[in-house]
This record gives sequence, C-alpha cells and structure tokens, in this order.
Amino acid sequence: MSQRIEVGVLGATGMVGQQFITRLADHPWFKVTWLAASERSEGKSYAAAAPWRLAARMPDAIAKMTVDGCVPGRGPKVVFSALDANAADELEQQFAEAGHVVLSNARSHRMDPLVPLLIPEVNPEHLSLLEKQRHAKGWKGVVVTNPNCATIVLAMALAPLRPFGLRRVNVTTMQAVSGAGYPGVPSLDILGNLIPFIGGGEEEKIETETLKILGEPDKRHSVVVSAQVNRVPVIDGHTMTVSVELKSKPDVSGVTDAMRAFRGKPQELRLPTAPNPALNVMTESNRPQPRLDADLGGGMTVSIGRLRYCPVLTHKFVALGHNTIRGAAGASVLNAELMKAEGLL
Ligand code: NAP
Repeated sequence: MSQRIEVGVLGATGMVGQQFITRLADHPWFKVTWLAASERSEGKSYAAAAPWRLAARMPDAIAKMTVDGCVPGRGPKVVFSALDANAADELEQQFAEAGHVVLSNARSHRMDPLVPLLIPEVNPEHLSLLEKQRHAKGWKGVVVTNPNCATIVLAMALAPLRPFGLRRVNVTTMQAVSGAGYPGVPSLDILGNLIPFIGGGEEEKIETETLKILGEPDKRHSVVVSAQVNRVPVIDGHTMTVSVELKSKPDVSGVTDAMRAFRGKPQELRLPTAPNPALNVMTESNRPQPRLDADLGGGMTVSIGRLRYCPVLTHKFVALGHNTIRGAAGASVLNAELMKAEGLL
C-alpha cells in the first residue's frame, strides 16, 4: 500500500498509549499523525509528556510531536483510544458523533449491544453491528472495542472449544502489574506478594464479555463463566488456569488438535500483525510462563499449556497472553487491520 492511513492516539501518553506508538511506528498501513491526552500533557512535546516505560525506544519522529487535547474533530478520522476509562465514557462517544472511527481499549462501550466487542480470529461477523450502530445512535462515526486484557486471553482459548459444547468455565487469573497502568500498584504492596482482588469490576468483565464475544452479534453464548482474579508481581503477561466443561467430552488429543488448528480471518487475510499461530499449544510440563512466552508472535499469540482432564469439570489447561499487546494496543491495531481489509475504514 503506497499511501498510509493517518491515525491518531487518544491517551497516547499512558501505558497502552505507548504500546500503540511502538506498534504503529513502522506499520505498513497506518501512520500516526496526531497524539492527544489530558490537560496535564496538552501543549508539551510527546517526549516531555510521556513517562516512557517500554524497552523499545521512543520513535524520534513521535518524540518531537506536540500532544494535543482530546478535542473531537481535531485529529484524523481513525483514532485509537487508550483513554482512562473515566475519560473514555464521554470522549469516545463525542469522537464517534464527530465522525471518527474510534478503536477503543476502554470498558466504556464494550457491553453496548450495538458496539462490536471484537477479536478478529473469533467473531469478525460482529462488525455487522456497525450499520445498526450508525443508524440507531445517529453517529457519523463508529466505536469498535477490544476486550479486557484477561478476557481476550480466555476468549481466544475457548473459541476453538465451542463445537464441543462449551457449558461451564472456571478461571483463576494471575495478572501482571502493567495491567494497572502507571504507576499502578505500589511496590510495597506487590513485591514478594500477591493481591487477590482487582478493582474496576475485573471479574465481572471476564464473566460477561466472554459471553458476548463467543456469541452471535445479537445473542450471547450460553456458557457460564466464574472468574477469580489476582494481581501478581509479573511485569507483562496475564496467566490463567482454566477448567472447562465440554458437553461432548472429547479426549485430550481432540481438544489439543482443535486448539492447534485454530485460525481466523487475520491469518487467512495475512493481516500485517496477525500472529501465526494464533494459539501456541505447548507440551512442556512447566509452560507457558510470562517471562518466556508472553512476547511470542510479537505479543499477539496466546499460549496454552498443561492441557489435561479435569476431575470436576471435563478439561483443564493454562493460558497466557501479553496484556498490553494482545490484551490492549495490539488487539486494537488488529481490529483496525481487519476493518481496513473489509473496506470499513
Ligand atoms: P494510563 O497509563 O493511566 O493512561 C491513561 C491515559 O489517558 C493517559 O494518556 C492520560 O493522559 C489519559 N487521560 C486521563 N484522563 C484524561 C482526560 N480527562 N482527558 C484526556 N485524556 C485523559 O492507563 P493504561 O493502562 O494505558 O490504560 C488505558 C486504557 O486501556 C484504560 O481504559 C484501561 O482500562 C485500558 N486497558 C489497559 C490494559 C493494560 O494492560 N494496561 C489492558 C486493556 C485495556 P495524561 O498522561 O495526560 O494524564
């Protein structure tokens, strides 16, 4: 593609905003031409406003850009949103009203029945909601969301199990500190410790978003999900232990084969940041581990391990995904790539 599409980033200075900058730096289809954040950052150079926390270097061209305020109509048509959820509640709607295509990470619109909660490998048909969304809300633009950072890992692991009759799921998460933004959890609370609670309705998000993602555009999946969440002293990568009840009680090799074969539109269309494989099924008894496996596929692959029978439900396994890439910025960028490929940008 000779001409890249201009894009903006709302909340560009935060943890997820920085991942957007990194992932879009050399993107073949998109070019960042506008950065926006709160009044605290407005008018400053990006280098001065963003407390850079990533190992990848801040791109020189971005460092010199001036951060704007989040004013609808000012930036390019396509904007990625890494806004704090409280700010996103109103701002994302205002950007959609003003004609922007908003690709959001925030919780604000995820459970709106007219807003796609999209994972391109799992439910690309949910983009059909956009026509209804425009019509019903009277917006000139649209909002498309990606799931909560733990939900996306679980939903990707469960998607290939739908044909077996997915009935019940019990999930316990061990979530990285980067999931809480910067500065996040105080070091004296988390070092040498874990916290068996994550605020902001984290458990409810996993229990409800999963049903919307795995269901039809207008009908939730019937699976029942019970989630218990923990914050652990890991920098990047949400790990979870999952027990599932599958109606047809397949043998373990059948489940393994289904997970290994799992692929979707991103892989078929060879979208620029599509991971291959989407699910990495590991056989080592002590994997996946966040430090070793979270970056696989540029942080876009979800790793599965320890797949075996469960004496309470039917099967159990461990799943791991990179929370600020597959669970946030990378998910949004893949959503935008699918929308571009489908002529929706
Ligand atoms: P963060 O580090 O706290 O960054 C928040 C960003 O929002 C900053 O750029 C901040 O700008 C901006 N902002 C705050 N209030 C604003 C306002 N009133 N007007 C305009 N901009 C405002 O948070 P984060 O971890 O990057 O998370 C961003 C979003 O992604 C949240 O909705 C979060 O729930 C979601 N999310 C995060 C993760 C993760 O793993 N971290 C995963 C999935 C989803 P200033 O720097 O100028 O204050």
